[in-house]
This record gives sequence, C-alpha cells and structure tokens, in this order.
Amino acid sequence: MTRRLLLVGAGHAHLEVLRQLKEEPINNVDICLISPSDYQYYSGMFSGFTEGIYTREETRVNIRKLAKETGVHFIKKMAEKILPSHHKLICMDGSVYPFDVISFDIGSKSLPEEFCETVARSIKPNYHFIDHIQEIRQTSQPLIVGGGAAGTELALSIQAYKEKHRLQGQVRLVTSETILPQSPSWVSSKMKTLLLKKGIQVWENERVKEVGDHYIKTDFGNKIRHTGVLWLGGALSDPIFQRSKVEVDNKGFAMVRSTLQFEEYDYIFGAGDCVTLSEYPELPKSGVYAVKQGPILFENLKNYMTDQPLIDYSPQKTALYILSTGRKKGFLIYGPLVNHSHRAWKVKNKIDLEFMEKYK
Ligand SMILES: Cc1cc2nc3c(=O)[nH]c(=O)nc-3n(C[C@H](O)[C@H](O)[C@H](O)COP(=O)(O)OP(=O)(O)OC[C@H]3O[C@@H](n4cnc5c(N)ncnc54)[C@H](O)[C@@H]3O)c2cc1C
Repeated sequence: MTRRLLLVGAGHAHLEVLRQLKEEPINNVDICLISPSDYQYYSGMFSGFTEGIYTREETRVNIRKLAKETGVHFIKKMAEKILPSHHKLICMDGSVYPFDVISFDIGSKSLPEEFCETVARSIKPNYHFIDHIQEIRQTSQPLIVGGGAAGTELALSIQAYKEKHRLQGQVRLVTSETILPQSPSWVSSKMKTLLLKKGIQVWENERVKEVGDHYIKTDFGNKIRHTGVLWLGGALSDPIFQRSKVEVDNKGFAMVRSTLQFEEYDYIFGAGDCVTLSEYPELPKSGVYAVKQGPILFENLKNYMTDQPLIDYSPQKTALYILSTGRKKGFLIYGPLVNHSHRAWKVKNKIDLEFMEKYK
C-alpha cells in the first residue's frame, strides 16, 4: 500500500532530502513538498546579492523544478496547522492534506507581531528577501534592527553597495545587545570597530520600542530617523506549532529528539531553525546546523518508512561563520579564531557556490 510523506518548507535540510531522494527513491511512498514559493533563497548569498556580486538566479534554487526531477509533487501553499492525531495538515487557504509521515523545515520568522503593521520589513519567509533589499539599499538612511551575524553582514553589504554606486547616505544599526553577542567580547568589539570604520552608525544595548514611518524610538529615549527598517533581530518561531498544540520550547519552537522526531509523535519530524533539540536547547538557530541535519533527516525518514532503526543527530562543537564585510573581504569566526581578509571571503564564496551547485 502506498503511504504519504509530506515535506513542509523548502529549507536547507529538505533540499538535501530532495537531492538524496533523486538518487535513492523510497518505494511505495507518495511524497509532496508544500512551500509558499517556487524558489528557495539561500541566506549565505544574501550579502553577496545585496552588494551586487551575485545575481538573483545565483541566489536561489528552483524547488518546483527540483521536486519534479525527484518525482515529488510540489504544492505552492503555506501550512497553517497540524492535526497530529488525525494525521492531517491544514494550509492557509483551508485545504487539508492527510499524511502518514510529515516533516517540517520551515525556518523562523524575525519581525515581532507588534511591528507587523509598521513600515518595518522582515526578509522571512526568505523569498521576500530580494524585493525588500532592492528597495531599502537605494534609500539614504536604511536602518537595520539586530546586531547578530545577519544584521551586521547586511548592514556592511548595504553600505558597500552604496559606496560602489556612489549613493548618498549611511546605514544605521540598532541592537538590544552588543554587536555579535554570542561571540567573545574582543570579537564583538573588532566587528563594531569595523562597522564604524565603514561609516555605519551603531546603537548598542537599545531596544526598539516604537517604529514610525520616518523614525524609530528606543527604550533609551533615542529617536533615530530612517528611510526604511529591516528587522533582523533574531529567530522567532512560526505560530504553527503552538496553534497545533505540539510540545514547544519557551519561544514556540517545536521540541525534537536527537532522531529529529517530535517529542510526542514518532511520525512527525523536523529540522533547521523551526525546531529545538531537547538535548541541545541552546544550539543557535543558524543554517550550518540545518545543513548538517539534512542527511540525518533523509536517513531517518527513509528508515522510519521502511521499519529500520533511526540514527541520532549530534551537532558539531564549533561552527564556522564567515561574514561578508564588503569588497570581497570576509570576517571569519571559528571558536576563538578570527580572521578578516580577502582569503576568508574566497573560502566563503567557494562554500556557498558548492552548496548551491548541489541543488541546481
Ligand atoms: C542575512 C542573513 C545571513 C545569514 N547567513 C548565515 C550564514 O552565513 N551561515 C549560517 O549558518 N546561517 C546564516 N543565516 C541564518 C540562516 O539563514 C538560517 O538559520 C537558515 O536559513 C535556517 O534554515 P532552515 O532550513 O531552518 O529554514 P529556511 O532557510 O528559512 O527555509 C524555510 C523554508 O520554509 C518555507 N516556509 C516558511 N513558512 C512556511 C509555512 N508555514 N509552510 C510551508 N513552508 C514554509 C520558506 O518559504 C522556506 O522555503 C543568515 C540569516 C540571514 C537573515
């Protein structure tokens, strides 16, 4: 009898599942991919696109095409709720999809609910990225909220774009913590020095509490003018898991075991930003982990559907981050090691191009 596997979201881990399915199909399983766009945009190349190094095509994977080549049905929809014990998924348009096994790789959100009706923009889901960045990089005082890896990288890339095209203005960055708060303090101050040297204005330890059409206000009492706000203030969960009453952490991310199965349901799997591992609750929400979970997720979906034992995922102790800082220079962070050079950018460029090559 044919069973149905639903893949929800075309994030990093599901791209790998699709790629492996092409090489190793699972017999008697009907597979559907549900995602709201024909394309999956790769965040590793967002900085390069912003600065004008990569084209739109280079930055994205055509998932409709990839699904077709893999024999997977592509359904262009947004999932809204799971009815776990009924084995059903409900989409935003009210359509219902029954499943035997389901897997989530839907990423995270970044814009808090209270700012959704303001001029602040989020690049999540990530197919919004191109339009928002093309608009904001042309304006004279774009303001980035968030001083983590994504916020600093995009601030530097927009500034580099402005320099390259001799556009007037200056990027502004406001963050509720320090710059790169998860790194050692000397790494944070090195990055802050770089931002200032590039002409970016920085406000640290100030939380945005109001977003107006032309200014933001912080809890420190500062009123900062802007010509557009891009919100990159850290990963927030999609409400789908709370809505579905599955077990979540205190931020609403679905709790999974090391086999990437949901805590209470063996037939619901999840990977990437949208889940929190019970054994590693502090693991950062970043693409490097979603990528590494891909092969384990494929193996476990296949094994679960063929009654084979599942394997465990355990994250690497140290992850490599290379942030593009403009003009093809990279800021490499690996544990306590930091290197800011053209060579670091070349390594990043190679990793990113090789990643995309696998799914084209
Ligand atoms: C500017 C920027 C730069 C970054 N650079 C790096 C980096 O260099 N290295 C790194 O490790 N991390 C980086 N990150 C973080 C990284 O982007 C995320 O951690 C990563 O994308 C998470 O991958 P994912 O597979 O969980 O989900 P995503 O890549 O976000 O993919 C989620 C998918 O699910 C779909 N989707 C969303 N909601 C639904 C729904 N309700 N129903 C169906 N489908 C849905 C989306 O359309 C998308 O296809 C960066 C982030 C930003 C913003």
